[in-house]
Parts: sequence; C-alpha cells; structure tokens
Amino acid sequence: MVAGTLNSISRVAHPKGSTIFPTPEITNRKDRTQAAVAFNTVFHAGSINDRAGRASCAILSSMFNILALFSRVSGPWGARSAARTSTVVLLSIGCFASAQTADLIIQNVHVYTGNASQPVASGIAISGDKVIGVGDDIARYAGPSTQRIDGRGQTVVPGFIDSHVHMAAIGELLNSFDLRHVKTTAEVAAIVKKAVASAAPGEWVEGRAWDETNWGGAFPTAAMLDPVSPANPVFLRRVDGHAGWANTAAMKALGITKDTKEPPGGKVVRNASGEPTGIFIDRAQQLIAGRIPPATPAQIDKRLARAAEECVRLGLTTIHDAGISRAELDAYRRLLAANRLPVRVYAMIGGSGDLWREYLKKGPEISDRLTVRSIKLVADGAMGPRGAAFWQPYSDDPGNTGLLILKKEEIAAVARDAVEHGFQVNTHAIGDRANRTVLDAYAEALGGKNDKRFRIEHAQVVSLPDFALFVKYSVIASMQSTHATSDMRWAAARLGPDRMQGAWAPKRFMALGVPVTNGSDAPVESVNPLWGFYAAVTRQDHEGHPPGGFMPEQKMTREEALRSWTAAGAYAAFEEGRKGTIEPGKLADFVLLSQDIMKVPDNQLLKTHVTMTVLGGKIVYREQ
Ligand SMILES: [Zn+2]
Repeated sequence: MVAGTLNSISRVAHPKGSTIFPTPEITNRKDRTQAAVAFNTVFHAGSINDRAGRASCAILSSMFNILALFSRVSGPWGARSAARTSTVVLLSIGCFASAQTADLIIQNVHVYTGNASQPVASGIAISGDKVIGVGDDIARYAGPSTQRIDGRGQTVVPGFIDSHVHMAAIGELLNSFDLRHVKTTAEVAAIVKKAVASAAPGEWVEGRAWDETNWGGAFPTAAMLDPVSPANPVFLRRVDGHAGWANTAAMKALGITKDTKEPPGGKVVRNASGEPTGIFIDRAQQLIAGRIPPATPAQIDKRLARAAEECVRLGLTTIHDAGISRAELDAYRRLLAANRLPVRVYAMIGGSGDLWREYLKKGPEISDRLTVRSIKLVADGAMGPRGAAFWQPYSDDPGNTGLLILKKEEIAAVARDAVEHGFQVNTHAIGDRANRTVLDAYAEALGGKNDKRFRIEHAQVVSLPDFALFVKYSVIASMQSTHATSDMRWAAARLGPDRMQGAWAPKRFMALGVPVTNGSDAPVESVNPLWGFYAAVTRQDHEGHPPGGFMPEQKMTREEALRSWTAAGAYAAFEEGRKGTIEPGKLADFVLLSQDIMKVPDNQLLKTHVTMTVLGGKIVYREQ
C-alpha cells in the first residue's frame, strides 16, 4: 500500500511480509516510517491518481489470478523465494492480459476501499470470490451473464473484521430467550413451549432475565413450566443472576429431591412439605446450573451457525474466535462442510491443552474459511469484579491487587513452542501487571523485533513505560472500543488518576506505530461493529455521555476506526494480502451501509445499518 502498483508487486514478492504494517525483518527505519505514514493515510478520501489506479486494474487482476493459481500449488501463502522468482513471470504475462468478465458488478456506490492508491471509487467488479476491478468505469467488466447490482448511492466499506469474539457464547445467548419484559408466568410458559418444540428430546432449554416483580412479586414454580415441558429440563435465570427457576424434569434429571441439602450461601425454596418448588437462590443454583450436561455436537452447531448468521447480518465477514475447544473446532468443520458457516473464522486454540499439543505436531492450518494458527492464553481476570492483576491495589479496594492466572514462565514456554512451530500467541491481559508479565514472557521467546505478530488481547491498562515494549517486540494491541465506553462509569474509581493515563488508550499505541486491531469481546459487548465504530470515534455511550467523550484524546478518527475494524484485523491474522481492503486480487468481502459512516454526524452512526453483506462475491445477507 505504499505506492500503488509497485507495492502490489512487492506484496507478491513478499507474501509473508506486511504492506499494512512494516515487517521489521525486511525494512530499515526509514522504510518503516514511510510504511507507517502510508498506512495512516489508507482510509483518507481523496483522489490519488485515480486514472492510474484504473489503468493498472486489468493488469493487476490478471496477475492476481495467476498468483492465485500459483498459490494453490505452493500453499496458501506461497513460498517466499519461489514467489520472488515468479514475480518476473507474472509481470510479463500480466502486461498482455485484457479485462476479465465479472460475475457480479456493484455500481453507483460510494466505496471506501482502504487502498491508499485508490481510496474511493463508485463500482466493484467481482469474478469468483475475488475482486477483479475497482473504479468508476466498472461497466467494462460486464458480460452477458454478469449480475449487476445498483447500489443507489449507498456506502461500501471492506467487510468488518472482529478480532475478538466468543462465537459459541454469542450463539448460546441468541438461542436462549430473554424474559426481561415478560409480564406474566403464562407468557413465560408460552415462550418455553415454543423453545421446547424446536429442541431435541431431553435437550436442556435455557432462558434468562425473568423478574417476578413484573407479575406481583411471587416467585414462580416448577409446576408453571411442567405442562409445557414435561420431558425437557428447563432452567431460567433471574434478571440479576441471583436465582434460577427449574421445572420438574430438570430436578428429576439431576436427582434433586426433598432430601437435597443446600450448599453454603444458597437456598432451595421449598413448599410446606419440604419439596423444592423449583426456585434456587444464589449458590443453590449450582445444584442445577453447575450440572447441566455439556452441549451436544448438534447444540454447538446450532450455536455457531446462529452466531455466524448474526455476524453477517451486522456486516462482519471475518471473526477471530478468541479461544475455541476441540468440540467447537469440530463443529466449525461440520458447518463448513454443510455450507452453514457464512463468515470466515480465524480460530484461536483455547489454552495449552491437548488440542494445542496436537497442533504443535501438525502445524498451522490455513484456509480462506477456517484458519488455526494461534493460541489464546489468559493472564488475568476482568476489572469489573476486580480480578485483573495490578502492581498496586485497586483504588477502591485497598489490599487487593487482583490475580495473575499464569506465571511469566508458563506464558514464555508456550510462546517458545509457538515461535518454533509457526503459531501466534494471543494473551488476555487487562491489568498493568498482567500486561507487563505477558510482554516479558513474549520478550523471552521473541528476543526483539520480529514478524510473529503476537498479540495482547484487551491491553487495557498499561504502565506508561511499558507501551514501548509493544514496539520493541512487535506486539499487536487487540482492543475493544466498547469496553472503554462500558467501563468508563467505574474506571476512575478502580484505577485512580495515575493509572488512568495508560488505560483504554488506543491512541497511545497508534502514536508509537503499534498496530491496534478492534473487536467486541461479544457476548460481553454487542457484536455490532458499528457500535464499536461509534465507541471508537466518540468515546460516548449511546445517549451521548459524557459530553465530548471519555478521555477524548483517545478518540480515533473515522479513518483510524475503520482501519482498526478492517485492515488491522486482517494484519492481526496474517491475512492482509487477501482481505481488509477492497482491491483487485483480494477476496470480495464488503458491506453496503445505509449511511456514509465516514461523513454522517456522530449521532447518526448508531442509526446506520448494513443493507447487504458480500462474502467471497456471494451475497450472504440482504436487508429485507
Ligand atoms: Zn474475550
């Protein structure tokens, strides 16, 4: 992306290097600075040599098609030396090729390409799953069988990439039901009845957020659910999570009777004869919740498919699943085979157990739809419940410095294995002590600048001197803009003024050239990337508080925010050569939006919605 055509060729020559963020191994300081400047201008609208961009399209697209052929032979990323040799061949063949016929063209749109050499355009031509042309003269790619879409002036951006989600949990939440606004127990029963109708025999049915104050204040009972679910166990959590409501089938399945004792800190509500009524308070919920059998393969399939559907509805074309189990990986494979997975998945192996050891033996697995080349570790807890690890106690809880879950040596051991076997390490770190511990562990395995692209997930509170260590060891900050706007209510009370300086601070990283990729941590936050985009540029909640934004100096520009949700996500997964921007040769992953998110006033951003999501040239979501 440094200099248009020339740079596209250099990407061919260095398939493993980055044109988005510099590869320290292969660039000197001056190159790095130029690359950083170029990266920072990627999403600026303007007209950098539009005509030259168009002229090079046909040549480039031919080149990329040949490259695609080549890469099928030599593996997804090609071998670096072999690719170098082939560059010359590609150049000479490319010059004689003519424009291809598109399968699909999208016209009359305002495209923010993310490509610095051609930042805006009014049309996109697609052949197969790739973009073959971007420009204002896109009709020349049309043939007799080309499908044409008139975008009616809508805005197009590259498909959003969420660098940190938990798909199974998103799907579980979407598949369970929310009883927050339900006003009677009869209504609850009707909702349960519907859920039971689509459940397998004996499958657990779960819901949440009932509130007895909605119907006069009396706790409900198992008997109210039994007629609608005589055989399927049902467990519904109260709105605050402090009580659970089970039916008789659930109690029967777990052997809960009159004789069941309550655990300390819990209460089983009983009738006059001592029989449990179906309400379990506080720790007594563990008698049920702690013993619900693990999800079946069919349930996991259903959850992941549901989550993927939601992702594409919201404009996400790639997600990074932050820690998957073997059961989830198997489910992804089944869904892919059955064509039920409409989103691309970059899966992080959850923890250093069996699955990780197995992958160390067989090496990374890389494809357009499902890639496994990283591990997710967790170094500390979360700040809300004061589990994140700090050097000094929480300002609102003297004596408590949180908890480090992994020792530096444990992280370093995994990191060394990862380096040796070609994997990336992505470690959750919230507190300043956790962040430093992870950086020190990474340092042992990495030694200095590198292109291993290790990440710290969240990178939420970093001691000011430690920001430089991200640069020193080429570590990516994988942040969530919505965490800042959710946590801002209690942030200062937990941290005090000194630590706040390095908290939720993407711009501090960006000022140093540290790549910042964005995500939602859904279902902790909404998976809607436009909400994340809004939080990144306003640092406000949905009501516009606080005025001017929380730590306003940390607001991203719209260009930076879009990049953090697209190109940076691609980079954080070694995929910048294939996605993250809209340009010839890349996967045709993009979204149409109802409003121009680069121009509308802040308060309009949340009203913007996705009207179409295109993944690999196929429409995977279209607003009805
Ligand atoms: Zn997470």
